[in-house]
Amino acid sequence: MAIIKDIAGIAKGMSITFREMFKPTVVENYPDGKGPLRGAVFQERFRGVHVLQRDENGLEKCVACFLCAAACPSNCIYIEAAENTAENRISGAERYAKVYNIDYNRCIFCGYCVEACPTDAITHGHGFELATYDINSLVYRKDQMLEKVGGDMLVLGPFKGAMTPHTRIPLNQGICGAAASSGQTIVIDDVHNDSRYLACSIETKSEIVVPVFVHGKVVGELDIDSHFLAAFGPDDRTLCEHAAAVLGKFIESRPS
Ligand code: SF4
Ligand code: SF4
Repeated sequence: MAIIKDIAGIAKGMSITFREMFKPTVVENYPDGKGPLRGAVFQERFRGVHVLQRDENGLEKCVACFLCAAACPSNCIYIEAAENTAENRISGAERYAKVYNIDYNRCIFCGYCVEACPTDAITHGHGFELATYDINSLVYRKDQMLEKVGGDMLVLGPFKGAMTPHTRIPLNQGICGAAASSGQTIVIDDVHNDSRYLACSIETKSEIVVPVFVHGKVVGELDIDSHFLAAFGPDDRTLCEHAAAVLGKFIESRPS
């Protein structure tokens, strides 16, 4: 009996091996894939190159309080503060960061700087292509990290439903920003369990966001909210992705 049990155990174990052997191999198509990430796939919580944020008026959120530099265990943040004046207003407070450098030779992407910031001025973006032959180029300056004015921003287009306060969303914020910057469809069964969610309405429970590609680049997205939890199944995803593909092809076919 023991032998039969052993054989049955081995057969069961090998059945998994044989089943997996005939499944198609899945690989990431980086750097030849679609979207800004060129096919790279990573979790949304991935901590990439920092982004220095602006407020809704376009002013820099950083007020040069140095708390991020104090919290950094690698001592890799360098800041020089300067005073705002009536003629030269850079941030909404008294001071702004005239110089803000992060040395990526030493940064360990721990996120302590992000947690320490009282104004949400610094966040982790999704930039990941840091490899270089020149270590000097790993000292990132403020200009390289500062959120672009007018660029890298999602702008609300035609929509149906309740008005939202989020008419402009930086690419590194919210579920919409995550979908646009990753070039991936995102389906959230319960938005209140997702820290990226930018609350638009207390009634919204689940969401699907599908990027629209034109000539391999994300130019927009379809974003649908639902008042029900887990409202979007595989069929809905297929339908939305098909609609986004049709829209992308339509835009491509129009004379530029
Ligand atoms: S992520 Fe960590 S190591 Fe990097 S700058 Fe922020 S606090 Fe310093
Ligand atoms: S990024 Fe935040 S914590 Fe760092 S200096 Fe600016 S406001 Fe202060």
